[in-house]
Amino acid sequence: MSKVEDFLSKKDEEEIIEAIRTAESHTSGEVRVHLEKTTGDLDIFDRAMEVFHMLKMDNTKHDNGVLIYVAVEDHNFVIYGDKGINDVVPNNFWESTKDAIVEKFKKGEFKQGLIDGILTAGQQLKKHFPWSEDTRDELSNEISKG
Ligand code: CA
Repeated sequence: MSKVEDFLSKKDEEEIIEAIRTAESHTSGEVRVHLEKTTGDLDIFDRAMEVFHMLKMDNTKHDNGVLIYVAVEDHNFVIYGDKGINDVVPNNFWESTKDAIVEKFKKGEFKQGLIDGILTAGQQLKKHFPWSEDTRDELSNEISKG
């Protein structure tokens, strides 16, 4: 895997943002992607939680933000969902999303891995947090970088 700035092209990013829009058209859940070089000395879950708070993803109406956090040079990623999700879903809730990402990442298809993961997450979230008339886009769909 390569550096953060080479990880996705501008066009890749646009396609990923489009996937986030699609996912969020099915659910009140909010999906974000954050890329950075490494978690440093931190455990990846701890770092993802920090980033989650830093991006103010804990301020959604239904506590249903989901962060896909990628540590590019560590060759690692994690899916971090807010408490509103964890309260109502089984423990293996993110497995299908994780599997969708891993399958493509293994082949070096990073853009497609993220897109598949985002769309899977959207389908999963829809079951518990369906889109409704009062659903608002509460968090930016842009990819953030650390
Ligand atoms: Ca959003």
